[in-house]
Amino acid sequence: MRGALGGPRVLLRRLREVMAEPVSAQDRLDRIVVLIAANMVAEVCSVYVMRTDGTLELYATEGLNREAVHLTTMSSGEGLVGLIAREAEPLALSDAQSHPAFSYKPETGEEIYHAFLGVPILRAGNTLGVLVVQNKTHRVYHEEEIEALQITAMVIAEMIASGELQALARPGADIAIRRSFHQRGVVLSDGVGLGYVVLHEPRVVVKDLIAENVESEVKRLEDAITVVRTEIDRLLERGDVAHHGEHRDVLETVRMFANDKGWIRRIREAVMTGLTAEAAVERIQSDTRAKILRQTDPYLRERLHDLEDIADRLLHVLVGARRGAAREELPENAILVARSMGPAALLDYDRGRLRGLVLEEGGPSSHIAIVARALGIPAVGRVEGVASLVETGDAMIVDGGVGDVQIRPPPDVEAAYAEKARLRARRQEQYRTLREVPSVTRDGVPIQLLLNAGLLVDLPNLAETGAEGIGLFRTELQFMVSERLPTGSEQQVLYRQVLAEAQGAPVTFRTLDIGGDKILPYMQAVEEENPALGWRAIRIGLDRPGLLRAQLRALLKAAAGHQLKVMFPMVATVEEFLRAKAMVGREQAYLRKYGHAEPTSVSLGVMVEVPSLVFQIDQIARHADFLSVGSNDLLQFLFAADRDNRQVSDRFDPLSVPALRALKSIVDGAASHGCPVTLCGEVGGRPLEAMALIGIGYRAFSMTPASVGPVKAMLLALDTGALRGEIEALLASGETGSLRPALAAFAAAHGLPV
Ligand code: PEP
Ligand code: MG
Repeated sequence: MRGALGGPRVLLRRLREVMAEPVSAQDRLDRIVVLIAANMVAEVCSVYVMRTDGTLELYATEGLNREAVHLTTMSSGEGLVGLIAREAEPLALSDAQSHPAFSYKPETGEEIYHAFLGVPILRAGNTLGVLVVQNKTHRVYHEEEIEALQITAMVIAEMIASGELQALARPGADIAIRRSFHQRGVVLSDGVGLGYVVLHEPRVVVKDLIAENVESEVKRLEDAITVVRTEIDRLLERGDVAHHGEHRDVLETVRMFANDKGWIRRIREAVMTGLTAEAAVERIQSDTRAKILRQTDPYLRERLHDLEDIADRLLHVLVGARRGAAREELPENAILVARSMGPAALLDYDRGRLRGLVLEEGGPSSHIAIVARALGIPAVGRVEGVASLVETGDAMIVDGGVGDVQIRPPPDVEAAYAEKARLRARRQEQYRTLREVPSVTRDGVPIQLLLNAGLLVDLPNLAETGAEGIGLFRTELQFMVSERLPTGSEQQVLYRQVLAEAQGAPVTFRTLDIGGDKILPYMQAVEEENPALGWRAIRIGLDRPGLLRAQLRALLKAAAGHQLKVMFPMVATVEEFLRAKAMVGREQAYLRKYGHAEPTSVSLGVMVEVPSLVFQIDQIARHADFLSVGSNDLLQFLFAADRDNRQVSDRFDPLSVPALRALKSIVDGAASHGCPVTLCGEVGGRPLEAMALIGIGYRAFSMTPASVGPVKAMLLALDTGALRGEIEALLASGETGSLRPALAAFAAAHGLPV
């Protein structure tokens, strides 16, 4: 290396000695800057460390005025040092003072230096500080020198990250490794959780930075690359990776990087400078990450994931760690952080210790979100880059109500959230006291409160909430969390367990509602322009009867000796229901013929969630044993507004005249035939909406467990007689907009907690 004494290898060896010396943090840093300055034949070497307030503070210098240490500061973006911090890019200048960003700090005495080379001190894509060398002459720094300084910066990054420099920070000027920030994602599961980060796939912490023997490090790197390449080839060849689809695309890209000559060459060059193989991978990856994180191109950012994956695989091989080792060591108050995660993986963790879940991917209707909601774990998704920006043990708060994540929160923010969590817990405690109170309105009208469920983990909620039974068991969840199609006997085992755990409380099973947005990974996806209006639910069941028949048989067998209630989703015509009913009849006959024990009774119901059925309630009520209103789908179809598209899903109010009229005509029509009706969509779980629904005649609701308490608290105070009069007047009033304000006023006037 031109200009440097002995090159980076010598420097790294000397640094290794300094790191091992039993001296104070300031002494060590002072020695490091002297070493670097001597090695790089520079008159000045300075270390600036980023503080939590975003300013950069001079922590050590060789060559500048030492009095300025811990006094000179600059904000991010200010001067050359600030520019490097902001851009996370090295900057080499032969005449620093002519650069437009140059800012002169008189206390440092740096006016006599012309040449300037600064590099960011990076860790996990975060800028922790800036390392600078300066020369009096107008010299030009070469590529190798820039590289050498970047490698040295890694050593300082480790010192900062280890907390060693924290002792040097003046009060109120903490180092930014503890920097708090917050990020917005999307709501996956409601609730507030405070705890400490556990990485689902823990990053390898590279402790050995400096190689003892460069040749053997090169060999280790080559071996590790071979192992990873073979691993990926094997994964790709394995039968269970579909021939198309996302998983395969990701692996193909990862394989591309594993064979990418440029990327591997850069790592090899870093090893040649004297780093261990793992430190070289970390160094190149940190650099790439910082560069990509500053890009806005979503394609590039997506590629970062793939690169992280390959770097992570390499690191695991090099350090000999197992991937995904955290499961057994889950601490109390864990907040699980992952780039992406499957629902089965979440179920592997100990629910009792999980306080939250934060993902870089995952939408509100993703399977992981469904499972998080079932487990009652506050969860936020689509939090960009989060898995790279936190470390195991960092304090974190998940606000699943609004989709916020607080990372290393300052004490006041933490206190505010702790209060919020306490309030929620207190409210839950109050609801718990209502558990045994009969669900009857103030004027004596019984209202049945049931639960929506779909997994075995939902069952304990029956006792938790005091709900009377399960009004909607979404059987597709078992299919969604499985890696392959559950067999008939696997289905039977689950249904039997559900009935056993319900201990005689009624359970309504809904047959498979797949298609639309509910895709099974192991089933060939059908490309559809409008999946919500496409080949889904009962339509698949009737066209491919094998699947539905197997499920019906499993249900009938599982319910031997119990009452069985089954309902069919997305029925649009009476004829569809009759065909489904006939299938049940055939299965019953089959079981009878072969001497199987039978359910004590079989009731067959229909979900009313397609508007066409609203206009034939009379006909369907004659054939069905019960109806269940799927208001989530019914309202999306009624208003032609995708329930999962935030831009449109909130523009139409279920408390508006057309929605309430449609819902009322269902309950009225069913009543005239003595056909029981339940409402199992989300609206029934919101107290004001539930109040309005009681007002138009609904007497049974199925809802998420967290809604039972609030709805019950409302109805215990409700006078249905007064409400009915009010709603009838409102519906007849010619009002064209939402009735929400008027209904809220009614609730307020009657002291109803909504
Ligand atoms: C509904 O549509 O209201 C319903 C309860 O079913 P799902 O949300 O599963 O579509
Ligand atoms: Mg539905």
